Amino acid sequence: MHVHIFWDTQSPAGLQMPVARCISSVLGVKTSVSENHVRIAGMNMVRKQVDAQALLDSIQAYKRRHEITDPILLVVHQDLFREGNSFVFGLARESVGAGVVSTARLNNEYYGRRGNDDDFIDRIVKEGSHEIGHLLGLPHCPDRECVMFKPDTLDELDRKKKVVCPFCRELLDKRLAAFLESR
Ligand SMILES: [Zn+2]
Ligand SMILES: [Zn+2]
Repeated sequence: MHVHIFWDTQSPAGLQMPVARCISSVLGVKTSVSENHVRIAGMNMVRKQVDAQALLDSIQAYKRRHEITDPILLVVHQDLFREGNSFVFGLARESVGAGVVSTARLNNEYYGRRGNDDDFIDRIVKEGSHEIGHLLGLPHCPDRECVMFKPDTLDELDRKKKVVCPFCRELLDKRLAAFLESR
């Protein structure tokens, strides 16, 4: 089993390899990165955001068409929303192994601060690992430093560490073993 990371062409270039490597080490799963070929559905011109659920539908259709059973994480540059939320950093649909992360609110510039690639990579890694964690069956975690904690703000995201807590680690190891056995 390995996780496909699809990097939208307009997402920040040059960061995909460090991000993929770091996600691999956080979760202990293999990852591969390639250019995205999933259709970007769900653009809302009024909100200037993409409906994350529509994007997940698009990934789901792509997986079915190409008979891909391993999880896919799509990284896009557009800001995401879902019904009931003004924005989301990312979203995952465990049942179909499809997840999406937006880089729109993960760079310092968005908040009027000086840009920093290390901060940017860290945040994409945390968000990406979080959504992939969901795809592998992990729920949210109350530990504020765990990657599976659900952050509502950038500060909460930054307070997290690039680790899964011992509780989530144990669950993840069980889920990974089950995943391998099902092949
Ligand atoms: Zn979550
Ligand atoms: Zn945890």
